[in-house]
Amino acid sequence: MASGVDDQYDYIWKVVLVGDSGVGKTNLLSRFTRNEFNAESKSTIGVEFATRNVNIKGKMVRAQIWDTAGQERYRAITSVYYRGAVGALVVYDLTKPQTFHNLDKWLQELKEHAESTVRIMLVGNKTDLRHLRAVTMEEGRTLAEKHSFSFTETSALDSTNVGEAFNNLLVDIFKTQVEEQG
Ligand code: GDP
Repeated sequence: MASGVDDQYDYIWKVVLVGDSGVGKTNLLSRFTRNEFNAESKSTIGVEFATRNVNIKGKMVRAQIWDTAGQERYRAITSVYYRGAVGALVVYDLTKPQTFHNLDKWLQELKEHAESTVRIMLVGNKTDLRHLRAVTMEEGRTLAEKHSFSFTETSALDSTNVGEAFNNLLVDIFKTQVEEQG
């Protein structure tokens, strides 16, 4: 057993970020794990995941959140990326309808590579860009309901709902990984 308080946890869960390049995956990750935002769009080659410990129903959960590290630009995400993931944050940019339509492709990929039990949170990001919104909240919600996913809209820029998105996903994972296992 490791000694530092941060090294103590009851569960460690892999969560993957999925979605088109530019939707804000890297910034959602940095906002949640380090409370940072980066306005420059540059892919994070080399950084594969970041972790944050979160208390879920009295248990310490270490969320190990994986970023695509720019690979999605080249359609090169391999099955290794999805392996062992218990949750996925599937992200689109609500100012870019194409990123919403492309979700079909990402969901297909998840279906092919991830465990069938993977829990999914659908996320419409960039709510701060109100005047540029091109996907309604209703469209997002309808898609989520169709697939029985959780759903929220976020802004990595001003922090709206970012913690909630990850936390709600972890609570959902807790239900399937812990409570339903008895
Ligand atoms: P990724 O390619 O999906 O990892 O997306 P990034 O996190 O690199 O973000 C792509 C671009 O969108 C960057 O210029 C970010 O600064 C910007 N961005 C990310 N999230 C938000 C947001 O919530 N609001 C706004 N206005 N811009 C964002």
